[in-house]
Amino acid sequence: MPADATALIVPRTRSLFFNNPFDKRPQEITLDEAKTWGLDDDGMGLIFARAKTTTSRFCFRLVLNAEKFICHKKSKRFRAFARLVKDADFHCTRLDEIEGSIVPIHYGMWLMDTGDWAGKVLFSITQWCGISWNELSHTRMNTEANRILVGRTFEALHDSGVDYGGLSGFDIFRHVVIDISAPGLTRDDLLNGKAPCYITGLSEAHISHQCMRRVPVLPLGSYLPAEEVRCEEISHVLVLLGFMKRSDTRVSASAALKWHDKYSELYPDADNLEVLIAQRARLYPEVSSVYDGQLTVSFEGDDEYPKAIILTIDSGGEREQTPDHPLDPLPVLYPDSLSPEPDASEMVAAKLGRATLGDSVVAFEV
Ligand SMILES: [Zn+2]
Repeated sequence: MPADATALIVPRTRSLFFNNPFDKRPQEITLDEAKTWGLDDDGMGLIFARAKTTTSRFCFRLVLNAEKFICHKKSKRFRAFARLVKDADFHCTRLDEIEGSIVPIHYGMWLMDTGDWAGKVLFSITQWCGISWNELSHTRMNTEANRILVGRTFEALHDSGVDYGGLSGFDIFRHVVIDISAPGLTRDDLLNGKAPCYITGLSEAHISHQCMRRVPVLPLGSYLPAEEVRCEEISHVLVLLGFMKRSDTRVSASAALKWHDKYSELYPDADNLEVLIAQRARLYPEVSSVYDGQLTVSFEGDDEYPKAIILTIDSGGEREQTPDHPLDPLPVLYPDSLSPEPDASEMVAAKLGRATLGDSVVAFEV
């Protein structure tokens, strides 16, 4: 936790919510209403709270009355609990490289005994990342620049070797969150895709994804089947953001595919990530790079397929990508040989069943 986080304050109003099971939109709830969570199996979404210190903001996600349903593994309550634990497990074992930039910082899970109020309460603390795109997409924030921001956050996640998984249903972008209150943002910044964007709720994510997409997540002007995009999830994101609708675009989808193929053929040593960085810089110079502020791209010559020089920007200035200095701001792909995930929710359920607590809060190891 940050050094000043000795007391996390949950403001009295506009701070406690649950996602309505019907439209999945956040709805404010009182402490009194919250305390019955877990007593029946009505599918009510997790209770979450906004907390703050003088310098940081946090999100609490709460599983209340845990001892009441921990043995009912088929219940909706248990499944909500299992998702929270899997998300924590995924963060603490897989996401070090991208926490705080593409995904929120996860500070851990704790267990407290609230006695008669709501029994054993398991909760996680993560960075507060703002408002869901599901909400913002109904507002003036639904600009093309912000749809591109959502798209490039998925691109960065895939480049880090993570496939989100579980993208389905009308609430698909519920877990894409934009920090509209981040310091220093002007109104124009908010409309122009400059706010920080995060992907949360990674309970169904998969590692070892080697993204072979051939097009950026930008308006393409026509439909491409997933086999042409060559990444099913990115193809899905393109459709859902409306980027495959028929429209006039300066670069056609087929021109983007052709450029990708030709560049890959001319420079066989370039990996797919480098080809995509070059493609975006060459064909779409007017839009933000996926790695805005982290990379600069220039080209040797000005023919149709010039070789891209990709430099990383760090505190010491620009640095060329060489075997000794790989593109280190870019995330590392996880090797295929990682052992399969143990079922963290089963382990935590067993520990929770055994836990005996005084009146203090204890950190809970996942
Ligand atoms: Zn992919």
